[in-house]
Amino acid sequence: MDDLSVKTGKRVVVLGAGSAGTMMVNKLRSRLPEEWQVVAVDRDDAHMYQPGFLFIPVGMYKPARVVRSRKKYLLPGIDYVESPIEKVVAAENKVYLENGLVIEYDYLLVATGTQIRPDLTEGMGSGALWFKKVFEFYTYEGAVALRQALQDFEGGKVVVHVTDMPIKCPVAPLELAFLLDDYFRKRRIRHKVDITFATPLDGAFTKPVASHELGSLLDDRAIRLRPDFAIERIDNDAQELVAYDGVRIPFDLCITTPLNTGQDYVFASDIGDESGFVPVDKHTLQSTELPNVFAVGDATNLPTSKAGAVAHFSSEKLIENMLGLMLEGKEPAERFDGHANCFVESGRGQALLLDFNYDTQPLTGTYPFRRIGPMKLLGRSRFNHMGKLAFEKMYWGLLMRNKTIPLPADMQLAGKKWED
Ligand SMILES: Cc1cc2nc3c(=O)[nH]c(=O)nc-3n(C[C@H](O)[C@H](O)[C@H](O)COP(=O)(O)OP(=O)(O)OC[C@H]3O[C@@H](n4cnc5c(N)ncnc54)[C@H](O)[C@@H]3O)c2cc1C
Repeated sequence: MDDLSVKTGKRVVVLGAGSAGTMMVNKLRSRLPEEWQVVAVDRDDAHMYQPGFLFIPVGMYKPARVVRSRKKYLLPGIDYVESPIEKVVAAENKVYLENGLVIEYDYLLVATGTQIRPDLTEGMGSGALWFKKVFEFYTYEGAVALRQALQDFEGGKVVVHVTDMPIKCPVAPLELAFLLDDYFRKRRIRHKVDITFATPLDGAFTKPVASHELGSLLDDRAIRLRPDFAIERIDNDAQELVAYDGVRIPFDLCITTPLNTGQDYVFASDIGDESGFVPVDKHTLQSTELPNVFAVGDATNLPTSKAGAVAHFSSEKLIENMLGLMLEGKEPAERFDGHANCFVESGRGQALLLDFNYDTQPLTGTYPFRRIGPMKLLGRSRFNHMGKLAFEKMYWGLLMRNKTIPLPADMQLAGKKWED
């Protein structure tokens, strides 16, 4: 590896080598001339397939299945540095690492995702019940601990809870609720378990059509919906979630999704907003303040879902914008439309598919083709479930290997039912 403390030629630095960072750094290395130095930084060598966190607690995946070496997915010719990032000083074009290295850049791409902050809700992360009766499944450790807690659970009140938006993969808590219904059925204790889904939203999901469809699924599975639940704190003695308006929800097991923020180092840098996300133009992904800084994936403030699919679709546009600017000095012109799609596990071997963008909410219909699908939008099907499971192979085998998935980056209207 080159001596990164000295910059001789042109250099682009990518912070984070998870889903978005790996896709982008590989694209940059494969398309930039050799004289460009391409650097990737991450704090460890454990690349997690995070959609798999959903399946660990209910025993569908063994924990080890979701972890792979991130280095193995980086193309030759990338200078990879393993260290936590301490801060970025954009005014100096420098990244400071906790291992003491200071890396100067010409262009910077931020792809360090989000972190969960259970400590920001009173009685949650710092409460006596944390990882005893209050769990999360947004980290590897959380998913593994919840798996054990569920195995030990013999009945009572289970609350699946969302603290506040934005969270990454906003449908994941709903999916877990559906899978818990299956899980307890298989263990033949469903009649002893009362499941509640508590959310700060005014329905099961953010957008009207999806919210209605997903709300009926909760009904179908006898899962109680508690909308508009704005949590103030967890009362550890009473084992209750307490909302600002005084409403209380008792639990024997609480599975929460804590607040999501940007990474600590972003708060210590001059590149982020008050939530630790990097403000970018929602179409070009260029920083609104710093022309040589871009951000991608969950680390941005994009007004669409924080999801791997968004990282994937937006990276197709971002690479053109970055290369145009870096090689030809062209203003970014490729426009990302906010396209997101995600499979929603609904239990019983089925899943729904959501497909939407900044302007079009998730609608019913077929995907990717009109009438023939083969996938159903906002309708349950076995095929959608197979699609969800197959995505893992596409993730490691195509997306992380710099190969193309033949799906357009822009949302397509074909197949969508407008009368909804
Ligand atoms: C339970 C669950 C289910 C999900 N299901 C789906 C799904 O079905 N479909 C879908 O599209 N998306 C899903 N997602 C969301 C998806 O995993 C994320 O949106 C995606 O991983 C975002 O990619 P990213 O590169 O922005 O962030 P990440 O993949 O999280 O990568 C961030 C990287 O930055 C590194 N990093 C962070 N801070 C530092 C630091 N200070 N120093 C050095 N390195 C640092 C991390 O180690 C990590 O490698 C799910 C997420 C969860 C938690």
